[in-house]
Amino acid sequence: MKTMLVTAGPTRERVDPVRFISNYSTGVFGYEIARQARRAGFKVTLVSGPTALEDPEGVKVVRVVSALEMRRAVLKEFGPCDAVVMAAAVGDWRVRSLSKNKIKRGGSVTLELAENPDILAELGRKKGKRVLVGFALESGSLEGNARRKLLRKNLDMIVANRVSPGRDVFGEVRTDVLVIDRSGGKKVFRGRTKREIAKFIIDKVRTYL
Ligand code: C5P
Repeated sequence: MKTMLVTAGPTRERVDPVRFISNYSTGVFGYEIARQARRAGFKVTLVSGPTALEDPEGVKVVRVVSALEMRRAVLKEFGPCDAVVMAAAVGDWRVRSLSKNKIKRGGSVTLELAENPDILAELGRKKGKRVLVGFALESGSLEGNARRKLLRKNLDMIVANRVSPGRDVFGEVRTDVLVIDRSGGKKVFRGRTKREIAKFIIDKVRTYL
């Protein structure tokens, strides 16, 4: 049985005991990928940031909060994996010094942010024979940036989504994506369900294994 590691959801970067910085990711896409991988016969581990979603049936779910925790969990599960799909919206920054006490009101506050490690790029450097799939959310040139990311992170496939004002890509059941594979081939999906796209991604991964 082939093994797949999927990540999903946002990460939360703690500011103080009651506050965090995060993003609008809901985890819907990643959970659908985990579900379809299971249906296709993979043994699936899902490393998930905080979401309101139910654990997919038959999938081992590891819940994490921050990007550093996600990195640790991913590296722990990576060894025996045949394929990895990084659908999580990993926070790019964390708060440099976590406040032990709740920060009190009274004037402006400056938070210094440190860059989080790029988990996918790290996997790309040690991928071996594994199949690696990344996601990209772009507000600029979709195809150009996605192709550059595919090469820079040593991926086999990238699923690119556009962020545009007034259009919510998060949590929607239907979406527009551009999928680019390692041989340069591209496929455009417009207004298709995340389930359909997830099935396509899983089928494509299977052709690489
Ligand atoms: O470079 P960018 O953040 O656009 O790349 C997105 C891809 O990289 C996604 O697959 C995301 O899960 C992954 N990523 C990561 N670690 C980060 C940032 C993004 O693994 N710190």
